[in-house]
Amino acid sequence: MLKLRAKDFDVMKEHAEREFPHECCGVIIGDFSDKTKTEVRPCANIQNELNEKYPDKYTRSADTGYFIDPKELHKAMMDASKQKLDIIGFYHSHPNHDPYWSAEDNRAAMWEGTGEPLYPDASHVVISVYDGKVKGASVFKWAESEKKFLQHNVEL
Ligand SMILES: [Zn+2]
Repeated sequence: MLKLRAKDFDVMKEHAEREFPHECCGVIIGDFSDKTKTEVRPCANIQNELNEKYPDKYTRSADTGYFIDPKELHKAMMDASKQKLDIIGFYHSHPNHDPYWSAEDNRAAMWEGTGEPLYPDASHVVISVYDGKVKGASVFKWAESEKKFLQHNVEL
């Protein structure tokens, strides 16, 4: 299970508040077995660009959706690999909503049209931010036995 340190949460919190009223998003680089090695890496949310360019496919704006800039995701993966680390988690914010696992979150975390998750070992942090202030967070992780994402308590 993902173990975040106070400074990790500070980075995500600051990012969520800075991007409000848009959703923020990013990745968490680390080691699945050594929980002391975490690096939170904020990424650009390109949802508004996609929504403007392809409104039929990307119906949501960045107020209610996120899409991690693929170039930044790729860079994070390369940097992790160089340090023999992995992408151990993802995070995004819910502006003016609670930190629940939405149908959209579930869709984004799965291979399209399958019942399988893109990153079965990664944790997904959802941060709730109301009126520009972070109010809480939840962590969701794939449970292979139940074939769905389950909520876990997280030490912040
Ligand atoms: Zn969400």
